[in-house]
Amino acid sequence: MKFDVIIVGAGPGGIYAAYELMQHNPELKVAVFEAGHALNRRICPIDGKKIKTCIGCKSCSIMSGFGGAGAFSDGKYNITNYFGGTLYEYLGKNQALDLMKYVDEINLKYGGEGTKLYSTAGTRFKTVCIQNDLHLLDASVRHLGTDINYVVLENLYEYLENKVKFFFDTPVSSVAAIDDGYEIICKDSVYRCKDCIISVGRSGSKWMESVCKQLDITTNSNRVDIGVRVELPAAVFAHLTDELYESKIVYRTKEYGDKVRTFCMNPKGAVVNENTNGIITVNGHSYEDPEKQTKNTNFALLVAKHFSEPFKDSNGYGESIARLSNMLGGGVIVQRFGDLIRGRRSTESRIKEAFITPTLDATPGDLSLVLPKRILDGIIEMIYALDKVAPGTANEDTLLYGVEVKFYNMEVEVDNNLESKYKGLYIIGDGSGITHSLSHASASGVHVARKIASEYKKA
Ligand SMILES: Cc1cc2nc3c(=O)[nH]c(=O)nc-3n(C[C@H](O)[C@H](O)[C@H](O)COP(=O)(O)OP(=O)(O)OC[C@H]3O[C@@H](n4cnc5c(N)ncnc54)[C@H](O)[C@@H]3O)c2cc1C
Repeated sequence: MKFDVIIVGAGPGGIYAAYELMQHNPELKVAVFEAGHALNRRICPIDGKKIKTCIGCKSCSIMSGFGGAGAFSDGKYNITNYFGGTLYEYLGKNQALDLMKYVDEINLKYGGEGTKLYSTAGTRFKTVCIQNDLHLLDASVRHLGTDINYVVLENLYEYLENKVKFFFDTPVSSVAAIDDGYEIICKDSVYRCKDCIISVGRSGSKWMESVCKQLDITTNSNRVDIGVRVELPAAVFAHLTDELYESKIVYRTKEYGDKVRTFCMNPKGAVVNENTNGIITVNGHSYEDPEKQTKNTNFALLVAKHFSEPFKDSNGYGESIARLSNMLGGGVIVQRFGDLIRGRRSTESRIKEAFITPTLDATPGDLSLVLPKRILDGIIEMIYALDKVAPGTANEDTLLYGVEVKFYNMEVEVDNNLESKYKGLYIIGDGSGITHSLSHASASGVHVARKIASEYKKA
């Protein structure tokens, strides 16, 4: 079967690319290949009763399928060049921001209307932070919430389903360059296209690596972020979260000069398990619907680890640390800040005595047996620094869940149009290593779609 454009991966990168292609040229024959299920079939079998832990489904409904890794996320679309990816290095700062704003407009049109846009512009917290050696990064954040995020995806699918051919449960095995385009090879069939957009996200990172090897496309990988998820009473951060929702605060540690940052803040949210290649790590989310909200706020504190030659496997390093916590705790470990500082493990009874109820059923333990000293020291220093702008952060009962790991895909060599050295082969979204967020991944999809559509216009 021959298509004009084939998109591999139906995460935000792939979806917004398909959407934009249809906006500019509805005549184009476009196909989307997705390893996971259609949105309505994305159901994780863990029900907490019969099935309590991951059973390793062939396709993980949490990470794969229409909507990609972000389908059940908090749906925070950050409109900023300060974090979430380095798209601006390729497109320029203004264009990157314009694309993210455009994605925001689409989200509003397809179900997100009425959701709140938070902004750091003009906030007094910037001054308060800097006075305490903390740095609040500039951003606007559209918070869709897990529920509305899902509605937007449903509506986008409804718009696309009769315009674009979707192949669900169809992982692409390999991509081959041919004379007039590309061959997309699946288990039972081979498809052809003139242009190919690869948007396989984090779950497709190993596959992406193999495609780059086959096609001799240069890649580079050296970063992983490791840390904990902090959970505390929502009141402690309410003055920040009510105004900003998500505050990205960076701190440079006195001891090592490492950068520690807050990440993925979930006011009145819940801490959740995350399964990455069978390793259980921690994450968090929150709901727009007040009925589903909790009394706690959670966010990650992450320390970025950059490696230099000869070490190349930064993700392997992160995985090993996460495995250690799984070995000791059978999954995620939870520890009270007070216990950590005293050098003792948390126990069931110490957690029960706390004035906060954990939102995740994790194993009480000792994070100092898991996290490297340098990383743990940085996290402790940051907690004390945050305590100055949000008193109560360093309270005895503040809960720390570990470990949280943010894996980065290797960076794939592409030009300013996100086109590889092969004409018509674009690599976008988190799979390219250039983006690490919903807004940047979506924006990268819009960008290449416009580029492809303009080439068809010229022809
Ligand atoms: C729990 C969680 C919460 C998050 N919350 C937020 C948030 O609030 N805000 C934010 O900005 N970011 C968040 N993120 C990150 C965000 O989801 C990603 O940055 C974003 O989804 C990346 O989009 P993408 O299209 O590049 O890749 P993905 O969303 O990962 O989509 C890639 C798709 O490609 C498919 N695929 C992979 N390999 C193949 C193959 N060989 N053949 C066919 N298909 C393939 C996968 O099945 C997947 O569906 C969160 C992530 C997680 C896991």
